[in-house]
Amino acid sequence: MQWKGRRQSENVEDRRGMTGRGVALGGGLGALAIAVIVLLLGGNPEEVMQNLQTAQPAGQQEAQVLSQEDRELGEFVGVILAETESVWNQVLGQEGETYREPKLVLFTNATESACGYAQSASGPFYCPGDEKVYIDLGFFQEMQQKLGARGDFAWAYVIAHEVGHHVQTQLGIMQQAQEKIQQADKQEANRLLVRLELQADFLAGVWAHYAQRTQGLLEQGDIEEGLNAASSVGDDRIMKQQQGYVVPDAFTHGTSAQRVRWFTKGFKTGDLSQGDTFAVPAGEL
Ligand SMILES: [Zn+2]
Repeated sequence: MQWKGRRQSENVEDRRGMTGRGVALGGGLGALAIAVIVLLLGGNPEEVMQNLQTAQPAGQQEAQVLSQEDRELGEFVGVILAETESVWNQVLGQEGETYREPKLVLFTNATESACGYAQSASGPFYCPGDEKVYIDLGFFQEMQQKLGARGDFAWAYVIAHEVGHHVQTQLGIMQQAQEKIQQADKQEANRLLVRLELQADFLAGVWAHYAQRTQGLLEQGDIEEGLNAASSVGDDRIMKQQQGYVVPDAFTHGTSAQRVRWFTKGFKTGDLSQGDTFAVPAGEL
């Protein structure tokens, strides 16, 4: 992608190199209280204590200086987020909606969210409660190394997918789906989640459709990188990998083929009305 020098979004919250906001790790009363809570819930307090002891007390951890590479990656995220803003302002504007731009939180290791304590190991996610996307950029390296998803457009696809969940939230689709999921049994809940996820892939494709019109942003091979990324984070592929990075709500995102299909559909049509994954029979997803 030709992303350098383009506008960066003002909606990036960079918490990298900070300790979790308001989260006091370390010894003392806090650790004791946590150990008791875990014990009550049937966890292993010894393990928790060990983890806590390796963590540095809050307030004493120096904010790490970001490397040149980290800074660049942060800029890249800012540019892609800005690109999603201009596309969704335009597309939702055509639908008579005013787009509520989401925030994107960059963090290292762990941070707080309205959906709970966010950890790198849970992978990138979107929290409807605070309308923020959470990403530890280490995930991008994991994608490359463990999932074989290479290229900067693969990263852009991840951001666009999470922003897709925000668009679902703004359109009320997320809330409707969540209500149904709460009433459903586990199997049906997973089926609904797959439809929600495939729609986020479709919306990432819609974004790519419009982003392509931004003069000179996309290069030859970018869409292929996106397709490869969509394929590499399919449930079936991930299940084969088994070990390594935990992708959020794995087993509930659809197969590689389904993810590629919905991304492609969004990319080719750019038409929101084509993206009702809830209306499609299961066999045709
Ligand atoms: Zn998702």
